[in-house]
Amino acid sequence: MDSCVQPGLLPVHDAIARIIAAVEPITATEVVPLLDGLDRVLAENVIAPINVPGADNSAMDGYAIRQQDCGGELILIGESFAGHAFAGDVCAGQTVRIMTGGLIPAGADTVVMQENVTRFGDNIRINKLPYTGENIRRAGEDIALQSLVLSKGHLLTALDIGLLASLGIHQLQVFQRIKIALLTTGDELLAPGDTYQSGKIYDSNRPLLHALLKRLPVEVKDFGIVPDNPEVLRDVFLSAREYADLVISTGGVSVGDADYTKEILSELGEINFWKIAMKPGKPFAFGLLGNSLAEKKTRATKCWFCGLPGNPVSTAVTYHQLVVPAVRYLAGENSVEPIVIKAIAPKPLKKQPGRMDFQRGIFSVVDGVNSVSSAGLQSSGVLSGMGKANCYIRLEAGRDSVAAGESVDVILFDRFIR
Ligand code: AMP
Ligand code: MG
Repeated sequence: MDSCVQPGLLPVHDAIARIIAAVEPITATEVVPLLDGLDRVLAENVIAPINVPGADNSAMDGYAIRQQDCGGELILIGESFAGHAFAGDVCAGQTVRIMTGGLIPAGADTVVMQENVTRFGDNIRINKLPYTGENIRRAGEDIALQSLVLSKGHLLTALDIGLLASLGIHQLQVFQRIKIALLTTGDELLAPGDTYQSGKIYDSNRPLLHALLKRLPVEVKDFGIVPDNPEVLRDVFLSAREYADLVISTGGVSVGDADYTKEILSELGEINFWKIAMKPGKPFAFGLLGNSLAEKKTRATKCWFCGLPGNPVSTAVTYHQLVVPAVRYLAGENSVEPIVIKAIAPKPLKKQPGRMDFQRGIFSVVDGVNSVSSAGLQSSGVLSGMGKANCYIRLEAGRDSVAAGESVDVILFDRFIR
């Protein structure tokens, strides 16, 4: 633990560890068509049912030969095109015209590319000697029969979909989507589309989170804007937990007079922690919202709760750092650590010791050197600054300001925050 963390605040890594230790990954699965597997979590190991490629074939347009023959002239005896193999054997002094993907005919051991051949009528002469086996893609070279292709707990990408298709796989067993209830709190909030009123602000957190959650294997039910009224909030929490595996709310999690979230969480369930040594995002409530009484939930009856701070940048950063790992773990994914790179900060960055800082930065490579600068205003209410950023500059809790020329930790924004 970082000894320079402000007393009473939980270090960020401990907060993530406590979330992961508390929640249990989903076990319920379903079978989906291959294309619907995108962004879902595999619930089974995928073992290759065939070799890919299935047989030795040509990597080039050219001529299939016996390498030992290639000194003299060869006579053309047929052709092998992709999908149309040559049925006979290639014997001494013979060759077969072959196209990329065409199967290597029996007897041949090499493909000479057509650019290295002079052809006259039905004869060819080879101008550049190939080595034995040149331009042949071997059976199983891409994926060997019975090998492990993808593991249970893997979040499927578009490239995986292509890979699975190459094995002839057309459906997959994946974990069911996590059910998420989303709500924002605050008497000051207007929904986009409402007529603007002075003294009010538009609710940006709910659309932001809704959009970000589309990247994750979840189903979202929107519980709307909830006023700063403990009775109403309690009622919404109660219906949200009947639906959800995880309730995500924003606002009202601090110590203000209109901040009821924690109080109701501890009344209905159990607070695990609510103060993190993190900037932005010190108030962040995590806990159990209690057990759902509903029969309709076929899986775990526990409903977890993440109460994010109301400022939009705090919402975005705590969502990314804490909620995304929680959801990915709940959704059955194997643990994924962020990739941290080093970059030079050419200009100073302000920081006070006490909390781990996630400043929004712009990363670039200047003359071959990783470089990062502030993306502008770092106030937790300024979402426009975060929109220009492409990374976090992550500064350890204990440290203070960064001098010009110092090396800092950078975490590039991934698809879960874009
Ligand atoms: P709170 O965490 O409720 O104290 O809110 C902190 C700040 O974030 C206040 O200035 C709120 O007006 C603002 N805020 C809270 N919720 C939202 C929201 N959904 N969209 C935009 N700003 C919000
Ligand atoms: Mg509020």
